[in-house]
Amino acid sequence: MIIVPLGVASATPTAVRHLPSVALWREGDVHLFDCGENAQMRMLQAGLKRSKIENIFISHFDVDHYSGLIGLLSTLQLQRRDRPMNIIGPKGIKEYVEWNFKFANIDLSFEINFAEVEEGFESQVVVDHEDFYVEARPLNHSSFCVGYRFQEKDKPGKVDAPKAEKLGITEDEQFKALKAGEDVELEDGSVIKSYDIVGHPRPGDSFAYITDTKYCPNAVKLAMNTNILYHEATFSETLADKAAETGHSTTSDAARVANEAQTKLLVIGHFSARYTNPFVLLREAREKFFPAWLATELRPIYTNPAQEKGIVKQKVYIKEIDEKKDSKSSGGKKPYDKSRGRDSSKKFRKRRPQTDRSKSRGRDDYDGSRRSRKPDRQRSDDSDHRSSRPPKHITPRTPFDNFDRF
Ligand SMILES: [Zn+2]
Repeated sequence: MIIVPLGVASATPTAVRHLPSVALWREGDVHLFDCGENAQMRMLQAGLKRSKIENIFISHFDVDHYSGLIGLLSTLQLQRRDRPMNIIGPKGIKEYVEWNFKFANIDLSFEINFAEVEEGFESQVVVDHEDFYVEARPLNHSSFCVGYRFQEKDKPGKVDAPKAEKLGITEDEQFKALKAGEDVELEDGSVIKSYDIVGHPRPGDSFAYITDTKYCPNAVKLAMNTNILYHEATFSETLADKAAETGHSTTSDAARVANEAQTKLLVIGHFSARYTNPFVLLREAREKFFPAWLATELRPIYTNPAQEKGIVKQKVYIKEIDEKKDSKSSGGKKPYDKSRGRDSSKKFRKRRPQTDRSKSRGRDDYDGSRRSRKPDRQRSDDSDHRSSRPPKHITPRTPFDNFDRF
């Protein structure tokens, strides 16, 4: 399971942050939590296919959380989607979507299944799939707002294939039955017990999406023992009054939920536009809970960090620092300490042109004087530099610009 924040701003977008939306990628499908303006463009930039969206969960009807929904659905219509789509949200979401397409006189090419939750509900499983389920609970915001927990069902244990073959299991059907917990009877009448071959069930991964709320016990219930808790931290502790007034959380509230729910990783997002440097918020959160991360747009977060290897392939070769040192010292034919001495003297000379003395002189004068002072060393420096200069390596613009990741 991979979580990709698509927008981490609150209320208004900033030059570098988009309106709220978080994508969950699992087994090739995408599940979207909130759909702020530009969510569909952020998906493109993240390399997430819009056609792969299965479920869209809307937390509440503050415009920044659903303003991208109609645009996204319209794109899917233009892409001639024919698979049904599920939209889950507070009561009214069905009316909103249907009214918009009626207004635009568009007959959608695909079916939308709506699941609405009404004010006053306590807890509801809004999606129940073969492999996972999604639970919704009301949060505590200035308007009716819903939090979600995406929970994978337990996976069957691993099959000990060599042992099974030794005992005479050959058919796929037999393997399937064993995996499903059934015992298999062989032709000779011997019975192979499922628990002899299949290991313990593995717990499924989980993710909680808690945004636009004050601290509330339902958030803790949704986040209980999750692999990843995405919790809003709109304000710093210093603005606790403002947070209480607007129905939002501070970094302490987010850390409190993480602590009480014993989540494995807290990711804070939904930052107020006043924080140009969200690391201020991260520092506060980390004082109370660790590990805590900042939600960074387009930066994937893995429920199982071991999966990270192999999915994101580096596009450029990055030199190790040690390797760099080696190539420098071995590039020249002269002994190591000598070349090092020369390097440091070179560095020292390079800084000189910035002094007043060099400013008053012309560049040619300066070079001339330097050459006349140490002509041999200067020349050998240049030639040495050219021959030992390492090949130029490109630094990627951002580490997240690989468009074919998912
Ligand atoms: Zn919000």
